[in-house]
Amino acid sequence: MFNVDLHCHSTWSDGVLPPAAVVERAFANGVELLALTDHDHLGGLPEAQTRAAELGLGFIPGVEVSISWRHQTIHVLGLGVDASHTGLQAGLAQVRAGRDARAQGMADALARAGIEGAFEGAMRYCANPALLGRSHFARYIVERGFARDTREVFERYLVPGRPGYVEHEWATLEEAIAWILEAGGVPVLAHPARYRLSPQALEQFLAAFKACGGLGIEVASGAHDENDIRRFSRIAREYGFLASRASDFHGPHEGGPDLGRAPMLPAGLPAVWDHPRLRP
Ligand code: AMP
Ligand code: MN
Ligand code: MN
Ligand code: MN
Repeated sequence: MFNVDLHCHSTWSDGVLPPAAVVERAFANGVELLALTDHDHLGGLPEAQTRAAELGLGFIPGVEVSISWRHQTIHVLGLGVDASHTGLQAGLAQVRAGRDARAQGMADALARAGIEGAFEGAMRYCANPALLGRSHFARYIVERGFARDTREVFERYLVPGRPGYVEHEWATLEEAIAWILEAGGVPVLAHPARYRLSPQALEQFLAAFKACGGLGIEVASGAHDENDIRRFSRIAREYGFLASRASDFHGPHEGGPDLGRAPMLPAGLPAVWDHPRLRP
């Protein structure tokens, strides 16, 4: 089998390993083609690319762009983007700009819920202050003993309807896809089973994603169970999307599969890594 992992994180966003360590771990796990896809940031790509070249590991520069669609947060990957593209860089800077104020809002809300010091606490888990996010808060809240693990933190505090959740407007779908395409990348919908969309809203989203230039969806994702994989295999065929395989690895103790250990892509689906823009 060809071991592909096209979605993971480093300390440039909410992963716990620096880019070179992510690449080394992927290599040790037998990954043959890796994409680093930090949230809204390209900063980790040069280090990862260099280490991958040293090890002879196939590498695709990527990014996971946060978008808002009908007040839902959705993640769109740009695979194979040119990290020096100024339009993409400017777009991502714009997406990041609101994070600090949002984090202050989250800290205030958490304080009202009895969890003090969350801004400073989250910052201790965050190597890139431009990318302070919910995962960093979750690690601090576990440290304080308000939940057993980050999964429980999210359920109790950090999802819509919970006390530490602050609504936020990210990029639009149109913007994000345009930035990715202009930077030479392939837009891929991340972990489609994760969104709280009705089947009908999901269909509308997928149609909009396709109409804007979306080309692929994650089918074999670390966030998907067997049913999700069957369902999104069907959807990939129906819409003509290329299928991806990815762990969405954040760290060794962050839940989800390790690098290169996502479920396999079902046979017969056209794979996104065969797209001409992603071939070496
Ligand atoms: P943010 O961009 O600050 O909204 O943070 C989003 C990140 O939080 C995602 O990329 C995941 O790493 C993490 N996350 C979101 N939902 C959950 C969840 N239910 N359990 C664990 N981590 C989650
Ligand atoms: Mn994340
Ligand atoms: Mn995501
Ligand atoms: Mn991710």
